[in-house]
Amino acid sequence: MSDQVKYLLSEKDMPTHWYNLAADFPTPMAPPLHPGTGKPITGADLAAIFPPALIEQEVSTKREIDIPGPVLDIYRLWRPSPLMRARRLEKALQTPAKIYFKYEGVSPTGSHKPNTAVPQAYYNKSAGIHKLSTETGAGQWGSSLAFAGSLFGIEVVVFMVRVSFNQKPYRRAMMEAFGASVHASPSKETDSGRAILANSPDSPGSLGIAISEAVEVAAKDPRTNYALGSVLNHVLLHQSIIGLEAMKQMEHAGDEPDILIGCTGGGSNFAGLVFPYLGRQLRGGRKVHVIAVEPTACPSLTRGKFAYDFGDTAHLTPLVKMHTLGSTFVPPGFHAGGLRYHGMAPMVSHAAHLGLIDAVNRQQISCFEAGLLFGKAEGILPAPEATHAVRVAIDEAIKCREEGVGKTILFNLSGHGHFDMQAYMDFHDGKLQDRTYDEKELAMALAGLPSVGA
Ligand SMILES: *Cc1c(COP(=O)(O)O)cnc(C)c1O
Repeated sequence: MSDQVKYLLSEKDMPTHWYNLAADFPTPMAPPLHPGTGKPITGADLAAIFPPALIEQEVSTKREIDIPGPVLDIYRLWRPSPLMRARRLEKALQTPAKIYFKYEGVSPTGSHKPNTAVPQAYYNKSAGIHKLSTETGAGQWGSSLAFAGSLFGIEVVVFMVRVSFNQKPYRRAMMEAFGASVHASPSKETDSGRAILANSPDSPGSLGIAISEAVEVAAKDPRTNYALGSVLNHVLLHQSIIGLEAMKQMEHAGDEPDILIGCTGGGSNFAGLVFPYLGRQLRGGRKVHVIAVEPTACPSLTRGKFAYDFGDTAHLTPLVKMHTLGSTFVPPGFHAGGLRYHGMAPMVSHAAHLGLIDAVNRQQISCFEAGLLFGKAEGILPAPEATHAVRVAIDEAIKCREEGVGKTILFNLSGHGHFDMQAYMDFHDGKLQDRTYDEKELAMALAGLPSVGA
């Protein structure tokens, strides 16, 4: 074989549909429930905050869904994204394993998030919506929706988790550069934000709180809709372009992955890479070992309960069955802000429940060590979130060395860390601490799970 490292797909080979794992699940997912009645929700319930096309995708069990032409045109600004073989990392680890990664950091905002921001803005524009409200953790999602909104002429308002608002001023600047307005959450702009501030004026915020604020703004204004950057079925659907491209690129490389790895906050970049492979496996194809990696400080898949819970802190969203730490749980403020969510995508949770995927958690210091090792070998500094996937890819490659087996590993490098250099500086200065959640707070949050559909 050659010593090729980059597997580029030509624009004409870019997938023209998304893939929906709901078509291949052996048993269907539990339905979302109305927060008031506890009965399954209807499309009409969602119409106050989502456009019809996205509601249709949310409940669809169709296997392939066409990507609209105007969305494909914008995807071509950075897609197909490269798939690379990390040969220098392999050498540094002296592993017989082959390590490949799909690199989503080439997008306009440096992560996988525009893959769904663009179609969400497109479908909302088509439905006559003027304004989108949303939340953001580290700022990756907010800047992606701000970018997409600017392309389609939609106003964007972002509630940014306060701890990240303070840590990542350049993310906020990027959102504003694309024309969005940004509030630190909890904010005084909404009832939900004011209620939190009344009890804890120094709240670091959480995605659950920021979602409540954004949903509240959308629900109160008929011309404003809400957009979510992860968790929902339609978001995971849009991200499937990652895995569909990767499958073609691995074919060009003449390899097939034995192990697939992604980091999980709400589960969207992980699902984007692995769901097309899981679908193939469920249809009788090659079996893959799939590993989701989450932070030890916010371990929904590894320590949470698989139960109905709210997606937000103020309980404005439908109840969905997912792995959850409880909607009132506020994770400690560690650097991978995009992984600080109390729940997991219902589709990822269902896949875990069916035994289709494994989940592990890792502490942030060991993740930054892995990120730096990768960066020195390959020249890309991963986003703090993505270092979790890098950590476990390296762990698996070391295991291969110890066992003397040469497996093929493919992980998703969900984004670069160029806006997260404060985190790398803290690491260098020895200021980074491994954070663990408060057991008592977790027990309390879990005790407060709603008792519906249990
Ligand atoms: C948002 C984000 C994540 C976490 O979100 P998922 O929905 O779990 O993918 C991971 N990596 C990066 C770079 C992000 O921006």
